[in-house]
Amino acid sequence: MTESTITNEPTITKETADIVIVGARIAGCALAIRFAEAGKRVALLDRGERETDVLSTHYLQDLRLWDELGVLQQLHELGAPPLHATRTVMDGVDLSVYHPQWPRMCVRRTGLDEMLRRRVEAVGVRVRTGVTVNRLLEERNGRVGGVVATGPDGERLHISAPLVVGADGRNSTVAKLVGSNKYAVTTNDRDAIWRYYRNLPVPPEFQLVRDGREIFFMVPCDDGITLVVAQPTRDDPRDYRDRQVFEECAQRIIPTLRGLMDGAQQVGEVRQVRRMNGYFREAAGPGWVLVGDSGHFKDVITGQGISDALRQARALTRRLLPEWGSPRTIDRATARWWRERDAEARPMYYFSRSIGLGLATNSVDLELFRYISASPRRRDNLTLMLRHEYNPRRLMGLPAAVSMAKAMSRSGNTVTGVIGDAQASLYRQFGRKQAK
Ligand SMILES: Cc1cc2nc3c(=O)[nH]c(=O)nc-3n(C[C@H](O)[C@H](O)[C@H](O)COP(=O)(O)OP(=O)(O)OC[C@H]3O[C@@H](n4cnc5c(N)ncnc54)[C@H](O)[C@@H]3O)c2cc1C
Repeated sequence: MTESTITNEPTITKETADIVIVGARIAGCALAIRFAEAGKRVALLDRGERETDVLSTHYLQDLRLWDELGVLQQLHELGAPPLHATRTVMDGVDLSVYHPQWPRMCVRRTGLDEMLRRRVEAVGVRVRTGVTVNRLLEERNGRVGGVVATGPDGERLHISAPLVVGADGRNSTVAKLVGSNKYAVTTNDRDAIWRYYRNLPVPPEFQLVRDGREIFFMVPCDDGITLVVAQPTRDDPRDYRDRQVFEECAQRIIPTLRGLMDGAQQVGEVRQVRRMNGYFREAAGPGWVLVGDSGHFKDVITGQGISDALRQARALTRRLLPEWGSPRTIDRATARWWRERDAEARPMYYFSRSIGLGLATNSVDLELFRYISASPRRRDNLTLMLRHEYNPRRLMGLPAAVSMAKAMSRSGNTVTGVIGDAQASLYRQFGRKQAK
């Protein structure tokens, strides 16, 4: 329902909806699709324009999540090859997996996000871009009751709804407006610098190589383009924005790239994101909820954020729809979902943090890599872990014990040295249980 009021200036348009979603990218669009399919009136707003990029790489771990949204065919049509192999080499230990049963894909965000927005429109929701939410409407009892937004021509929009969703990314306006606090904050040790190349004849597989403290990965994506990414530690003095530095290091770390980069053309500018800390945010309160990066962000090394946003949208919808009714039942459902989100996200949060640590691989890490490498089933479990079908905490059991015993049995290692190593890196992180 829409109603326009001409006061002095500016024009205020008043509307009502069942749910207002702030942010129309991965989390926001996924939620909009699910709510619209359930017959709810969705208002979807984004301050950005259509077909703009996001500073993010875009490795998609689990294609089933796209199938659920009815866009798997469209995803394939964007032209990225399905990836059936992951070649991971950690300090010389090969953890590669051939996984045609669990295809992955890498699709640049401009096309990916636009595809989702088209799907949103196909289920009857208008994607309103150029609309910035800057205030929340409050009900008499203090409950959030909608948003105040400014449109592209400065017009004001008041949208009332029983639920406001912040799907508005790491610097979430909704989180700020409701005063949502961060907790379990981690300082991630690595930055990300990446380039796109055409005419880089690499196999259709994801490759990640860690050599000491250096990490590079590369993956073919849509339109015949290959993404090459450096993940240096924050204290690495090299300037990876310099193409020569970037390519020299990339070819040294990833053997497949050697001799290939001279013949390749860089597409677009070099991209960089620095100082990416991990966090959880209080995710729900009276009349509001945070989904996707607005509520939780982790070390990007495991490439989970996009899939997590889709999973969260699914879980929130499943939790909310059966309880949709009064403000009290809505708030109860979002509070429950918040607890579920944390329980689901915590193991991968600390696992990602441990893989991204800027420390050199130590005696225990190395034995863990060797333990996993020795068995195809254990290597498969790494793939399943990234699809949330194998809990990273399971590495704390037998794998941890075997790795420590092996490390102690190696000549040159001492018991105290091995215990120190275990505490210093992977296990210290896996051992963290409480996110709050
Ligand atoms: C360097 C880097 C690499 C990454 N690599 C991967 C990867 O390989 N695989 C993976 O799965 N994930 C990866 N991620 C994570 C992934 O990018 C995020 O998890 C994902 O983009 C989250 O989507 P979202 O919808 O929550 O938020 P976003 O994509 O940030 O979208 C938020 C939207 O909200 C809008 N908005 C913000 N404020 C307002 C406002 N006040 N009013 C209206 N609109 C507003 C913005 O315009 C934006 O469009 C990476 C992240 C980074 C930083």
